[in-house]
Amino acid sequence: MVLAELGGRITRAIQQMSSAIVIDEKALNECLNEITRALLQSDVSFRLVKELQTNIKKIVNLDDLAAGHNKRRIIEQAIFSELCKMLDPGKPAFTPKKAKTSVVMFVGLQGAGKTTTCTKYAYYHQKKGYKPALVCADTFRAGAFDQLKQNATKAKIPFYGSYTESDPVKIAVEGVARFKKENCDLIIVDTSGRHKQEDSLFEEMRQLAEATKPDVVIFVMDSSIGQAAFDQAQAFKQSVAVGAVIITKMDGHAKGGGALSAVAATKSPVILIGTGEHMDEFEVFDVKPFVSRLLG
Ligand code: GDP
Repeated sequence: MVLAELGGRITRAIQQMSSAIVIDEKALNECLNEITRALLQSDVSFRLVKELQTNIKKIVNLDDLAAGHNKRRIIEQAIFSELCKMLDPGKPAFTPKKAKTSVVMFVGLQGAGKTTTCTKYAYYHQKKGYKPALVCADTFRAGAFDQLKQNATKAKIPFYGSYTESDPVKIAVEGVARFKKENCDLIIVDTSGRHKQEDSLFEEMRQLAEATKPDVVIFVMDSSIGQAAFDQAQAFKQSVAVGAVIITKMDGHAKGGGALSAVAATKSPVILIGTGEHMDEFEVFDVKPFVSRLLG
């Protein structure tokens, strides 16, 4: 179910409940059950959906609501604030500082959109006056360096990589050192992926993080992976200190639920969402407008 459809279903569930003559426990339960079904079909993990339902019921105590209170409004607000809470881990997103060098490491499975998103992230900061640079530490996928090189050239961002070196740690360390010397304030390290969650990938990520000491690790996740989102995000978080999430391919038939699951699994904020293949096709993520838009 695409995001707009999820929002529409939630809104309709609330409207239906409001049209009941009395909003009692039964009407509220029916509304929450429909919202639960919609969220599950949008790939929000079962655990999160259960939690949301319990929390809303805690906030909305129908017995306590004095007559004359606008119950629909109270329920609507509870749903809004619970959805916001699910997307807000309660810590601010990492912001690089212009006067000092920040190292940012991107991680994610192959095809998630890391290389594409690295350029988007660099391009976005370049426009804000930063001096970014890209390092290709993906030695696993043939063509990864060429892709990064092509993107970086288009965006006029300096890059570093190797066609011959097979040790990603060596490339990353050399690239970071070079761009530090050149006074770049945002050094972005693109890493390898694998088709699935494999020990060798996580070991490589650990070694890269150890060697480059990133200020933040950004987990990139394809929004179409469905219910696998929670486990995948958690697996990366257990290997490296993920501090931010980027959800890609939200322009396709994306289900929004993955974003909620990734936040819950990594306890990190979503910072950008990818909305296309080109470097300017992304949106800066902001919880409240996102949920408002979701609920129409
Ligand atoms: P990586 O293996 O994680 O580095 O993934 P890539 O950056 O190579 O991306 C894999 C594919 O997804 C490429 O064809 C990208 O053009 C495409 N892609 C990445 N982000 C987006 C996005 O936000 N929307 C769309 N439609 N495609 C994307």
